[in-house]
Amino acid sequence: MPRECDHERTRYEHRTVTLRVFVEEVCLRYAKVPVCAQCGAEDWTDAEADDLLMSAYRVYRQRHGLLMPEEVFTRRILNGWSQNDLDQALGWHAGTVAAFERGALQTKEHDDALRSALGLVRLDIPGFLQWSGPAGIASTSGTPLSRMDVEVKSGAVILASR
Ligand SMILES: [Zn+2]
Repeated sequence: MPRECDHERTRYEHRTVTLRVFVEEVCLRYAKVPVCAQCGAEDWTDAEADDLLMSAYRVYRQRHGLLMPEEVFTRRILNGWSQNDLDQALGWHAGTVAAFERGALQTKEHDDALRSALGLVRLDIPGFLQWSGPAGIASTSGTPLSRMDVEVKSGAVILASR
């Protein structure tokens, strides 16, 4: 008589996990995957799924030469701006810069605006930043950050942006 498992005990396995980030696949090797010790089903907590997403975002940013959260933070501080200053300078909703500094994934448009405001130019070398003189203020119409929905399915975390 099959009984539904309560997933009470979790152990971890290192697996290759494929995630979808925007329209792209990102493969994470040796990702820590929580698995039910009894039935073997994946058993993700929100925090664990979030960590996995953060790792995938870093790979995606590196691939596309987007600013890392700590780069945004560091350059903002060097410019002497609060998160609010930068949101306002860019015409973004309050909390947008804070979200990026916490690890939310920016679009190319957000990244271009951040670079422009922070005085950083994009080179076609992923992860390479160049100082381009005093910071200027870019005025762009920012779009509000969408809430990211994480759907966890067998072996893959599928990310939908809405
Ligand atoms: Zn179980």
